[in-house]
Amino acid sequence: MTRYFLSDYLKDTFGTKVYKLSLQSGCTCPNRDGTLGFGGCSFCSEGGSGDFASPLLPVRDQIEAAKKLVDAKFPRRISESDRKYIAYFQSFTNTYGDTEKLCALYEEALSFPEIAALSVATRPDCLSDEVLFRLSEMNRTKPVWIELGLQTSDDKTAERINRCYKTEVFGECWKRLKSAGLEGIVHIILGLPGESEAEMLETAGYLARLDPPPDGIKISNLQILKGTKLGEEYLKKPFNLLSLDEYAELVCKCLDILPETTVIHRITGDPPKKILIAPAWCADKKTVINTLNKKLNRFS
Ligand code: SF4
Repeated sequence: MTRYFLSDYLKDTFGTKVYKLSLQSGCTCPNRDGTLGFGGCSFCSEGGSGDFASPLLPVRDQIEAAKKLVDAKFPRRISESDRKYIAYFQSFTNTYGDTEKLCALYEEALSFPEIAALSVATRPDCLSDEVLFRLSEMNRTKPVWIELGLQTSDDKTAERINRCYKTEVFGECWKRLKSAGLEGIVHIILGLPGESEAEMLETAGYLARLDPPPDGIKISNLQILKGTKLGEEYLKKPFNLLSLDEYAELVCKCLDILPETTVIHRITGDPPKKILIAPAWCADKKTVINTLNKKLNRFS
């Protein structure tokens, strides 16, 4: 099966290497501020799943600061003036706030010539028709991607992790997002508490059956982080987590279920070591990547 990885997709789309800049919009999350819940999804760290984002500064300063973190990755042959980036608003729920202010922020980010695309991470219950319309207008000039944290299609597990929305809400949002002509990237987590292999694979099956299916997928294993509800539970009574081999097997099975057109944006998590409780193998990024590449027969 041909698998389409993000690095190839970016080269095909933009004709060059492109790196993401982790930025902040200053939004919180309705699952944290009491509107839907307190404390957030039980796996989500205090950084709102964006622990590498720059501190909240004017967008120009955030872009400059974030560029310093990724510029060393560009090959020397790509001069500074030819470097391209994606403005990625990652932490918390980046459409949860004043639409005018947020859209002004996104338009400003897109106005920089080196920004090739905008990526906005959010929840499916926080995408109003008005926001979708404004983002679809921006999408006319440069690509706009929406990243949705589904994690699982199983409503029982969703309740267990305090996701605070039903999967049918995701399905309804998906239709509106695709009708607005935007690219949708879906995040899922393998190894959530109490989920069987069949339930994890059903999440991939659910996504494959969407019409149209996801433009992109991000998969990670469950990571237990300090400062999270799951972290507290785990420290009181450790529970079983996926081994690296089990995770790699499951990633292969999920990718076999998803269509070849779904771009693989990420198959590893990259938790900050200082807040990682378990599993320890997540901290060894090189081994994780090698194991996954071997299982996927990538680069062989
Ligand atoms: S919706 Fe996202 S930001 Fe909000 S608590 Fe859940 S994972 Fe964290």
